Amino acid sequence: MTKTKDNGNFQKGYTYQEALDLAEGNQEQAIPTYCAMCGPTAGCGLYAFVKDGKLLRVAGMAESPRNQGGVCPKGLASPQWLYAPERLKTPLLRVGERGEGKFSPITWEEAIEIIAGRLKQQKEQYGPESLAILSPARRNYSEMITRFLTVHGSPNYGHSGICAMQKAFAFFHTIGGVPSCDYENSDLIIYWGRQPVFSGPPTEGPAHLVAARKRGAKIVAVKPSMEPDVGMADMWLALRPGTDAALALSMLHVIFTEELYDKDFVEQWCYGLEEFTRHIQSYTPQWGASVTGVSARQICEAARLYASTDKAVIDVGNGVEHASSSSDAVRAIAIMMAVTNHLDRPGCNLMGERGLMPKPITLPGRYTPEMAKKLVGPEFPRAFQPFLEGLTSAYYRIFDSVLTGKPYPIRTIIAPGTQPLLSTRGTKRVLEALKKVDFFVTIDVMEPAEMKYADIVLPTTTPYEADHPFEIQGNRLMARTKVVEPMGDYKSIFAFFLDLGVAMGYGEDFWNGSIEAFENERLEPFHITIEELRKHTCGLTLPQQRREKKYQDYERMFQTKSFGFGKALFLPQGKVPLYHTVFAQEGFAPMPQWKETREKTKQYPLILSDYHTSKFFFGFLVKKYTVFAGIRA
Ligand code: SF4
Repeated sequence: MTKTKDNGNFQKGYTYQEALDLAEGNQEQAIPTYCAMCGPTAGCGLYAFVKDGKLLRVAGMAESPRNQGGVCPKGLASPQWLYAPERLKTPLLRVGERGEGKFSPITWEEAIEIIAGRLKQQKEQYGPESLAILSPARRNYSEMITRFLTVHGSPNYGHSGICAMQKAFAFFHTIGGVPSCDYENSDLIIYWGRQPVFSGPPTEGPAHLVAARKRGAKIVAVKPSMEPDVGMADMWLALRPGTDAALALSMLHVIFTEELYDKDFVEQWCYGLEEFTRHIQSYTPQWGASVTGVSARQICEAARLYASTDKAVIDVGNGVEHASSSSDAVRAIAIMMAVTNHLDRPGCNLMGERGLMPKPITLPGRYTPEMAKKLVGPEFPRAFQPFLEGLTSAYYRIFDSVLTGKPYPIRTIIAPGTQPLLSTRGTKRVLEALKKVDFFVTIDVMEPAEMKYADIVLPTTTPYEADHPFEIQGNRLMARTKVVEPMGDYKSIFAFFLDLGVAMGYGEDFWNGSIEAFENERLEPFHITIEELRKHTCGLTLPQQRREKKYQDYERMFQTKSFGFGKALFLPQGKVPLYHTVFAQEGFAPMPQWKETREKTKQYPLILSDYHTSKFFFGFLVKKYTVFAGIRA
């Protein structure tokens, strides 16, 4: 029988030596690696237990600061993902009609040659902007997509922007960046639209909740449904889905009318107090109660508690973003952090906390305003382009352009790790566009939903079958080790772009196809090569290169420059814009507001919210109604 280690109630993982000892007892190998199944760089350290070339199970790496030995159910289900029967096996070329599902196996070399040939011909005939590459949210290969498009000359990065972008956009334009939370020193933690128990690495939400309870800190849960974190909370604001902006505005009403804001801070560091004070008058707690379903008494209590607690954080989750008023909600919450002086002080929301970063590979100097003008459908209004992902088009507008030919038709769509039929709105129109587009390439681990409509289907590696990219967490670096040989004729998405770059004649910009050279360039800031990094089996902790944190450095924080070509300040006056002059100039609401959408949807009385329950949070492992057994529990 396979031996495992009993750590009591929780799986606390293994040290390297423990993993080796355990593996030896079972005639297995213990291979240090890390998980890559969520976020662009969640990167929980793992030990992969392998026998006869087969991955049996994974366990948490105690040495990894990210997860300290913990592994979430999605990570634990890795072997089921790796050996899923739906996995693609080899590159495929469509031989039947679109939608017929008839394919013929081809080699990777043949596939790259066909794609490069098509792109060259279309670039010549229709211009480079006829190519669009789709991406879900930010992934670890996002920069590679931007690089390929930039070198090719197309701005059309089709970004779905359904996750984290509204939050980033609103925070940047209100307080100059996305704040982190100093949970450890906080006396009040407000989880707003966040699911801290089921969502995220094991060392984050649950650990903070338990620690906060132990030291007597208060917890407030802001979410529509009863979940485990609500059971640990002192207060639960059970709002109607999608009404976060109304709740935040009515809390701000209480804070301003009861003069609970920090007058010195507001006078020195906020712009537009007079306009905002007038604006907030109508958002009374009674009004807030009628919109959100949270009682006026609770709205007042929550506002007073937050404003009067010296050390308080608000942790804004994805739940806030999945509504039409998300930008207003985040702007209002960010204003609340600022005016109550909960910004960049110990125990509060902190700014400027950033781990070490590899060398960027996006070639920003080669974006041109001319390229930006050619976007088929800017993800953000033109005044705010390019934002975080560089030049981006709204994902859905790529398909619109195929169908309408406006402003010009996209001719080729490449979809690496994203399923258009499942990743955006208007499924029927997406399907029509996929039938119509000249050339469609899909790249995935498993059979994607729209496979029948692809001209070329490319099977990619799971992280367990590749030796790149290296991982970085805070000040810790770790090379990826290949755990098992690929189960089929696979390449990574990184290798795909390198090979395609070379075949297109862009070899110089794509390290002449060398993954090692690509990794070494990204490692340049750390003065180490990938070969040297591989010698550090369980990762390498670099000396802390950051200066000691300087709190309340508002002079610097509020001068953050935008990523737009003009490099204008996110905060035009170098202060928190309670009234945003650039929004006003561009025809947007200068102050966060509430727009009721219920009237528009009378015909459809139910509101659909992209809410992940505990069973289905790990959504991308669910296909054709098959939920992997390990994540059912
Ligand atoms: S949180 Fe879970 S899925 Fe994400 S990296 Fe860690 S173990 Fe993997």
